[in-house]
Amino acid sequence: MLDLIIRNGEVVTPQGVGRWSVGIDGERIAYVGIDDPSIAAGRTIDARGKIVVPGGIEPHAHLDIFDLTNPDSGKSTLGPEEDTRGMAFGGTTTHLDFCFVEPSMEMTRAVEERIARWKSNSFVDYSFHIGLLGALPLRVFDQIGELIKQGFPSFKVFTTDVLPPHPKRPRLRLDFGRIQLAMEKVAKNDGIMVVHAEDDDLVQFNYERFAHEGRTEGANLHLVHTKLSECLAFERVIRLARDAGSAVYFVHTSALEGVEAVVEARGHGLPVYCETLHHYALFSAEDYKKPRGFCYHTYPSLKYPEDQRALWQGLISDGVSTTATDEFPTTLEHKLLGTRIDNVTGGNLGAEARMGIIYTEGVVKRGMTLQRFAEVTSTNAARILGLYPRKGVIAPGSDADLVVLDPAIKKTLTREDFHVSDYSPWEGWRVEGWPLITILRGKVIVDHGQLLGRLGDGQLIPRKIDPVILRRPAS
Ligand SMILES: [Zn+2]
Repeated sequence: MLDLIIRNGEVVTPQGVGRWSVGIDGERIAYVGIDDPSIAAGRTIDARGKIVVPGGIEPHAHLDIFDLTNPDSGKSTLGPEEDTRGMAFGGTTTHLDFCFVEPSMEMTRAVEERIARWKSNSFVDYSFHIGLLGALPLRVFDQIGELIKQGFPSFKVFTTDVLPPHPKRPRLRLDFGRIQLAMEKVAKNDGIMVVHAEDDDLVQFNYERFAHEGRTEGANLHLVHTKLSECLAFERVIRLARDAGSAVYFVHTSALEGVEAVVEARGHGLPVYCETLHHYALFSAEDYKKPRGFCYHTYPSLKYPEDQRALWQGLISDGVSTTATDEFPTTLEHKLLGTRIDNVTGGNLGAEARMGIIYTEGVVKRGMTLQRFAEVTSTNAARILGLYPRKGVIAPGSDADLVVLDPAIKKTLTREDFHVSDYSPWEGWRVEGWPLITILRGKVIVDHGQLLGRLGDGQLIPRKIDPVILRRPAS
């Protein structure tokens, strides 16, 4: 007898979408197919009129991390115990956070500390990208192969410090020599580069110039972190990666130019992928002028309507593989602390809304297929970042991470729809379709607005990337 069976739902699989049953035995999916009434289960969920998709994967979160935009405030983001509650409600069953390694740190020690921080403190499954920051000693790079073997195959680098050097902040940028070295090590050991790509010369010069001209109000962020900066950096990173034979995953792609660079590289058969944020696809630089406008900001910056169109085009057809949040959960007061181009709080609060927003704006409003919806919210992140086929797909043998989404829920989101912090940038947004039931490895963790999961349900998931992903654009 199975433990759980979901009957009568529209089940979204890579082979198609159909009115199938999903049977669950323990933590895994045991059966997907035409309903067989003779199959008995401990519990039955009737999903008539609902859509059953793989549990969401949030590929880009920063929980419990020091806020570098306002270093003097001493503030950090909320931790996994708080933010992953929202992920559970929003249909996200796995997230990828970061373990940043600075020159003064030992890489393995840094990873151990991050793992210890999450243990027993997450409602959903997790792993970490390894972030390489600043002028790291070259011996640190020799540990990349070992980390990949231990199940951490993605390495994040910044091509820019993002913000100007004052007030004093740790350096984020790696020089291109060190990025090249990381790429060589990553390529050799079947890992992938995760890149925040902006042209540091242009960004830093723009800060200097705007300060000189007295144009430091935050509504100018898109003129400092520009489309051209994204264009130059994406192209330079792609050229470097081509030489090193490395796969690349660009985080928070914000501009038409970024999408074009990725599409062109993929056209040449290079293993280049990018994510965008639902914030970037749905807000523009005009929104900075609104009373709570900086709620929508994430570095690099919000851009223009033509960029939003390109991001949607990439999401719906090809070129933009995943949707992420750059989750940076803070209070509203913290998010609105800075109002200048050099101190608006970065990151965003939106992992809880991600699945529902992409369903509404992609599937309902823009004709995205249900299969593509599953790809950009789950499957592609799983494949590119090494969680597949354990995660990201409804198939026998895979973890029973599932979301029952109700397309009949039509509402304007209010504060009460959210379960993290004291605000959401998505308050006031109209949605059609919202997650109703979230299942993590066979356990129902959220059911019709009720949290049934517990801290500690979430586990560290070791990752390994399919070599096909690393050789050609395969997701
Ligand atoms: Zn980030």
